[in-house]
Amino acid sequence: MKAVVWNRITDVRVEEVPDAKILQQSDVVIKMTAATICGSDLHLYDGYVPSMTPGDIIGHEFMGEVVEVGPDVTKFKVGDRVIVPSVIACGQCWYCQHGRFSLCDNTNPNAKIAEAMYGYSGAAIFGYSHAFGGYAGGFAEYVRVPYADVGPILVPDSLTDEQALFVSDAFPTGWQAAYFADIKPGDVVAVWGAGAVGLFAIASAFMMGADDVIAIDRFSDRLDKARQLGARTINYEEINQQGVTIVSALKEMTAGRGPDRAIDAVGMEAHGTGFGANIDRVKQATRLAELDRPYVLRQAIQAVRKGGTVSISGVYAGLVDKMPLGAIVNKSLHLRGGQMHAQRYLKDLVKRVENGEIDPSFVVTHRLSLEDAPQAFETFKKKHGPNEHGEDCPCCRVVLKPHLKKIESKQGPGKPVEVNA
Ligand SMILES: [Zn+2]
Ligand SMILES: [Zn+2]
Repeated sequence: MKAVVWNRITDVRVEEVPDAKILQQSDVVIKMTAATICGSDLHLYDGYVPSMTPGDIIGHEFMGEVVEVGPDVTKFKVGDRVIVPSVIACGQCWYCQHGRFSLCDNTNPNAKIAEAMYGYSGAAIFGYSHAFGGYAGGFAEYVRVPYADVGPILVPDSLTDEQALFVSDAFPTGWQAAYFADIKPGDVVAVWGAGAVGLFAIASAFMMGADDVIAIDRFSDRLDKARQLGARTINYEEINQQGVTIVSALKEMTAGRGPDRAIDAVGMEAHGTGFGANIDRVKQATRLAELDRPYVLRQAIQAVRKGGTVSISGVYAGLVDKMPLGAIVNKSLHLRGGQMHAQRYLKDLVKRVENGEIDPSFVVTHRLSLEDAPQAFETFKKKHGPNEHGEDCPCCRVVLKPHLKKIESKQGPGKPVEVNA
């Protein structure tokens, strides 16, 4: 079968690999019908996630049709159309029993790597490095899905693939960001980052009763989408040119009080790992950037009103410098973050899509073939590039579909980008 494999930094390739197959009795194998590149995939692409090896199949946001069913699986049969959550959870451990699926104790066979970094390991994630379990990802024609009775859910017939796909990861991540922000009816919510997760956080904040949402980004096409959801917007590049900071702009827009809730849907593309003696050991085995870049987090902590909540959904993997702990203590802030507990939200979110409360496909700007993945990664990273018609346009999300034809563009589709590494 064809699959997108990580080769090295900024080099992903479409290769012929052995077919996905049932390995445990509780597995299913699905034929992937749609997948999407996530911001977190760029951390793999840019080499900031430790423990990737050449040939690893990547991708954690995907859906498809069940083609093979393990003997212990009770919920699915061949032909079922399913959304597969990015997080792999066992359903049995203390964390799963308490709805904290992304903290599952049992699905990461390489827990020791994560334990060295964090003290304890969370759940495994599809296609997201050996530190996160080393499971083959969803950017492939076929995908093995373990713990099938716990993770995937059926897609209602009324939903298209593009409407259902984002329930696998980006929508519940945005939903949880809003949920962790503890939004109360009437709140003013500031959201940093108007990529797919930020946009879903904005939509979720409104669904949870927020009165006013302010989106912060520098890409006008993304801010347009935020406005279509009902948000007010700040283009921080524009205001910075006028000498205005985000913090002062937010104060101005909230009558001096500041937003009640702040959501960081950006994270950082650089991370350190581990504590104390672990740092050097992990450093040896990984490519680490020199600096973490928690700019957004610092701004959010500063801008949120006294007694407010800061919710972190952007990826932070390691250590950060200059954390304004003084502001957290002296403003009585609540700070919350986490990988998304997919299995806890999926049914509710599918129902909301089915009811027409939201159509997640509004984030899709590019529809490309699985074979276009190398080009798609470049497009997603640069935030613009050739769409399915070969036209260069702003990119919010790329959907990869195995059966589409490869695009033709001047940049040469499918060619891995060469770097001086
Ligand atoms: Zn994702
Ligand atoms: Zn578990």
